[in-house]
Amino acid sequence: MDINTIRKDFPILDQEVNGKPLVYLDTSATSQSPSQVIDAMNDYYQNYNSNVHRGVHTLGTKATDAYEQARMKVRGFINAQRYEEIIFTRGTTSAINLVARSFGEENVSEGDDIVVTAVEHHANIVPWQELAKRKKANLVFIPLEADGTIKLENVEAVMSDRTKIVALTHVSNVLGTINDIKSIAEIVHSHGAYIAVDGAQAVPHMSVDVQDLDVDFYAFSGHKMLGPTGIGVLYGKADLLDNMEPIEYGGDMIDFVDLRESTWTDLPVKFEAGTPMIAEAIGLSAAIDYINEVGADEILRYEQELVKYAYDKMSQIEGIEIYGPREERAGLITFNLDGVHPHDLATALDSDGVAVRAGHHCAQPLMKFLEVSSTARASFYLYNTKDEIDYFIDSLERTKEFFT
Ligand code: PLP
Repeated sequence: MDINTIRKDFPILDQEVNGKPLVYLDTSATSQSPSQVIDAMNDYYQNYNSNVHRGVHTLGTKATDAYEQARMKVRGFINAQRYEEIIFTRGTTSAINLVARSFGEENVSEGDDIVVTAVEHHANIVPWQELAKRKKANLVFIPLEADGTIKLENVEAVMSDRTKIVALTHVSNVLGTINDIKSIAEIVHSHGAYIAVDGAQAVPHMSVDVQDLDVDFYAFSGHKMLGPTGIGVLYGKADLLDNMEPIEYGGDMIDFVDLRESTWTDLPVKFEAGTPMIAEAIGLSAAIDYINEVGADEILRYEQELVKYAYDKMSQIEGIEIYGPREERAGLITFNLDGVHPHDLATALDSDGVAVRAGHHCAQPLMKFLEVSSTARASFYLYNTKDEIDYFIDSLERTKEFFT
């Protein structure tokens, strides 16, 4: 992996913000896209912009091919068994909502348990709260260790014959913890329940094999993995998806429409009513090509190097609190600096050109668990460098001096 070549692929990084070179450390919110992704989407708009699954004309056929090839690309990327198991959604949030509204609606009944954790992003907790309310089901939480990790025995402890679905994240967007999804899936299945995984922070940073993990559902977003906004993926096992009802109705997803009755087409289009995100699917496909070219394992190795480098330097700053485990963390560090509000911190860093996220990170229950109202977060990707981390640390130290 040649970082200089990679940097050249991301022209957005080569700019000044507030008169200083941009240091982009907010990938966990949204990653940047390489020129290859932007070019692929431009190519579609400039040369074959057309609707899919409809016209027989040349542009329409080309657009349909590109859209369906993107699906095949995603299939290979996460090693799904069949392309029908890949549903394009607007993002992780819509993918999880689809599972909760469709699978949840049919499979969860009054008195059943829906198991989640306090680590979840709001996208993986609110849809389950609403399902629990609709069905008069119970929300059950897997207890967390003090550093936010999840012990397998605690998963086992909450399972019962009432458990219908366990929904949890693969990688925490706040703590960087990496959950042992394969072992958790085994426990869940041994109780006859199903597992839905929020992979928004995992897929961009490590190789994910849905068959090896043996998950029932797996959701992720394009914009966190070098791709565009407005597209995500729901993977689901074909036999489960086959038996689920769509949650949106309209064009494309139908088989036959009569005045009073209609029938649905097959997977995956059954869940993709209306004109889909065509340019975005093409962009996502180019993002996957880019990740494959660099190599998911190499990206993970490089990020681990960066995060260890940053962690060691940050932990030497007096008055800093870093959340989550020291070892085995994904490429993000959430922290607070004694006496400095995270928003002030992020604003001061921004004046130095450093982009970090501040706030509750769409994880208010986790903030409560950590006993804070908000935190700052620096997150890293394949395009960041150790020089940028040094610059960030200098800026952090200057900010601390200014405020304390
Ligand atoms: N889950 C996790 C762990 C996330 O980090 C995010 C985004 O920050 C989401 C879900 C929601 O993703 P999206 O906003 O792309 O739907």
